Amino acid sequence: MRVLISGGGIAGLTLAILLKQQGIEPTVVEREPGLGATGYMMDFFGTGWDVAERMGLTGALRVVRYPIERMEFVASDGKPYCTAPIERMRAALDHKYVYLRWSDLEKILFDRACTAGVKVHFGASIESLNDDGTCVRARFADQTAAEFDLVVGADGVHSNVRALAFGPEQQFARYLGYYAAAFHFERKGYGLGHAFKLYEETDRTVWLHPLDAERGDATLVFRHTDAGHVAREERAPLLRAQFAGAGWVTQKLLRELDEAQHIYLDSLTQIDMPEWHRGRVVLVGDACGCLLDTGARARAPRRSPYGVCGLSGLPEAACCDEAARCRSLRGMACALGRLVEVRAAPRDPPDVQRPLAAARHEVLRHREYPAKRLSAVPFPALMLYIS
Ligand SMILES: Cc1cc2nc3c(=O)[nH]c(=O)nc-3n(C[C@H](O)[C@H](O)[C@H](O)COP(=O)(O)OP(=O)(O)OC[C@H]3O[C@@H](n4cnc5c(N)ncnc54)[C@H](O)[C@@H]3O)c2cc1C
Repeated sequence: MRVLISGGGIAGLTLAILLKQQGIEPTVVEREPGLGATGYMMDFFGTGWDVAERMGLTGALRVVRYPIERMEFVASDGKPYCTAPIERMRAALDHKYVYLRWSDLEKILFDRACTAGVKVHFGASIESLNDDGTCVRARFADQTAAEFDLVVGADGVHSNVRALAFGPEQQFARYLGYYAAAFHFERKGYGLGHAFKLYEETDRTVWLHPLDAERGDATLVFRHTDAGHVAREERAPLLRAQFAGAGWVTQKLLRELDEAQHIYLDSLTQIDMPEWHRGRVVLVGDACGCLLDTGARARAPRRSPYGVCGLSGLPEAACCDEAARCRSLRGMACALGRLVEVRAAPRDPPDVQRPLAAARHEVLRHREYPAKRLSAVPFPALMLYIS
């Protein structure tokens, strides 16, 4: 069986490895010229961990270690008002948890794929697909063409295969109202120590992670109208405009943007589709799944943690049936509830109490993890309400 996989990211490489184990020869085409060296930070646990365990990858995952001992929510003067020791989080998750960058995960999967003999073609993309019912003819951007029995779109939320086989993204995209950006910076002068620090203001947050003695990773999330794809050269100006006047170390950080080698920036968008395959073309991962969709309806029996989430650590909730989803959410709530130490009354930022009360109200009303509603609630409130 000839399988073409578009996307050498998390889902694409995972699928390629698993197919190879079954004796199937996958061909992976990845748009980027090579492996990424940056990428946003991720919590990796839950279903993703289980899959990694079954694939024998947890040893490689555990080797990835960033100097992060605690999570600190800081006020505008940099003083922490809420702290969660990472070790407690690890223990609560039975030590099946790591903090890593997207690119670390991609590298681990890529290495395993290479060992298994999977061919990954970088700098390659599909231009057209023609499914005649017996095979799919794919034409690539370099004008070569080949025939496959199955074509898999594992090319992320803005999937090229989805556009070619199912139509324009707008039909399936649900914009969540936020953009996320990530870049690396020189950590000197930020006082990060061994803490992952989070600073929040209404509609914008700054998260800083120490990576090593020299570098840190910044993730900035902000509310914005849907501006579609933001070109690379427009990213720094957009971030400067969105975070103008923001407190803590944000203004210093914005000055670092000039030095940043690569700025990741994308909308937070969920894909919601009535079907994930058409003829001999099928979608996996973010191409057909959904970002942070723990509160949405489950489509479950058709979703498999392997197929839909790839190796992503998104909670089981995003890919299993209703009962499993509730079990998973309750487990997650219990686990996370043991993590938080509140050191002081959260008077700064001043608006924490109200959203916290609102979050608790939402929980009582819905008796589940209202992810979408909570996107408007500061992170500390989220952490506290599940305790
Ligand atoms: C800011 C942020 C934070 C997140 N944090 C977490 C977290 O803490 N824990 C967690 O579990 N998940 C997290 N996620 C979600 C997680 O990253 C995704 O669910 C996961 O990466 C999806 O994997 P994927 O392979 O489907 O897509 P992607 O990881 O997006 O990979 C898609 C791949 O396809 C390639 N591609 C794109 N277009 C083409 C094309 N035309 N041709 C060929 N290749 C193409 C891309 O270059 C990429 O390599 C986060 C997401 C974001 C945006």
